[in-house]
Amino acid sequence: RKAIAVMTSGGDAPGMNSNVRAIVRSAIFKGCRAFVVMEGYSGLVHGGPEYIKEYSWEDVRGWSSEGGTNIGTARCMEFKERDGRLLGAQHLIEAGVDALIVCGGDGSLTGADLFRAEWPSLIAELLKNNRITKEQHTRYQHLNICGTVGSIDNDMSTTDATIGAYSALDRICKAIDYVEATANSHSRAFVVEVMGRNCGWLALLAGIATSADYILIPEKPSSSREWQEQMCDIVSKHRKRGKRTTIVIVAEGAISNDLTPISPADVHKVLVEKLGLDTRITTLGHVQRGGTAVAYDRILASLQGVEAVNAVLDTTPDTPSPLIAINENKITRKSLVDSVRLTKSVAEAIHSKDFKKAMSLRDTEFIE
Ligand code: ATP
Repeated sequence: RKAIAVMTSGGDAPGMNSNVRAIVRSAIFKGCRAFVVMEGYSGLVHGGPEYIKEYSWEDVRGWSSEGGTNIGTARCMEFKERDGRLLGAQHLIEAGVDALIVCGGDGSLTGADLFRAEWPSLIAELLKNNRITKEQHTRYQHLNICGTVGSIDNDMSTTDATIGAYSALDRICKAIDYVEATANSHSRAFVVEVMGRNCGWLALLAGIATSADYILIPEKPSSSREWQEQMCDIVSKHRKRGKRTTIVIVAEGAISNDLTPISPADVHKVLVEKLGLDTRITTLGHVQRGGTAVAYDRILASLQGVEAVNAVLDTTPDTPSPLIAINENKITRKSLVDSVRLTKSVAEAIHSKDFKKAMSLRDTEFIE
C-alpha cells in the first residue's frame, strides 16, 4: 500500500486543518496509508520518526471547525541546506512514506520541489553511507510531491484563492467595522495596517468590502507627493459631504514608486498635519490569521485535499510536481515549479519598478 504524508509549513492559515483532514481521509479512502509530519520541515529534519505519525480516519474528526493547524507548522533553516534535506529523506524512508503533500506558501513549496528534484542523489548518498538499506533504496526510488497553497496573503500566482485568505479577509472586514463605529462617534480617522507582505490582495479587497476612503498597496505605487495629495483630496471631499469617519488601509508591503516603504505612521502624519484630523493607527496583527476558517476556506481546503491525493497517485517519475489551485471556481492542477516561479517574478517586477507587470502577474489589472 502507498503511504501518503501531509505537512503544514510556513505561516499558519485558517483552513489548513480542513486540508489535512481531507488528505488523511482521502488517502485512506483510496486504500493508502495516511501519515502526518508534525511541525513542518523542522519535524521532518529534527524530530525524526516520532514526528511522522500514521493517522487513522478518527484522528482528524472535527478538524474542519478548528482554526490554525493541529499538526503544527514551523520555519526550518536547516531544510534549506542539503544536509537537512538528507536527514529529512532518511526519516521519510524510515517511516515508509512514498509521497508528500505540503500545505504552505511559496517558500515551503520551493523546498518541496527541490526535495523531489534532489531525491535520487539524496537516496544514493544515504545508501553509500549505509543510512538506508539496498531494499529501501529500491523501494523508495521516487518521492511524489504535491502542493496545496495555505497562506492568508493570497500571493500565489496561478490560483485565484489560497487556503486562509478569505478567512483573514473576513476578520479584517469585521475589525474595520468595529473601528468604524468608534471612528464615527469621535469623528476620527483610522489608519489600518493589514498583512499581506508584498501582496496587496487583503488590503485591496478589504478596502472594497468596507468602502475605505483610501488604500495603499505595493502593486500600484505612486510618488510620495502623488499619494499624499490624492489621499488628502479624497478624504477632504468625503469630510465636506458630512462623512464623520475616515478609513485608510495600508498593506504591510505598501511602497512609493521609488520603493520607499509607506508605514501607517507616515499616513498618520499626513492626515494629522495636512488635514488636522484626530487620527489613530490600528495594526490588526495576528488576529487576522487566528480563529476558525470561513466556510469558503473549509470547502476550498477540503476539495483541494481530495484533489491533492488524486494528483500524487497520478504523478509518475516523468510528470512535473502538481500544485492544486482554483481557477474560475474549478479545482485545477498546475505545475508547482511554474507557479512558484511566477510568484517570485511578481516580487522581482516590483523591485525593478515594473509595476504594470506586477499587476498583470497578480491578475489585478482591474484596479486600474
Ligand atoms: P508564508 O507564505 O506563510 O511565509 P512560506 O511557505 O512562504 O509561507 P517560508 O518561511 O518562506 O514560508 O518557508 C517555510 C519553510 O520552507 C522554510 O523555513 C524552509 O524550511 C522551507 N524553504 C523555504 N524556501 C526554501 C528553499 N529555497 N529551499 C528549501 N527549503 C525552503
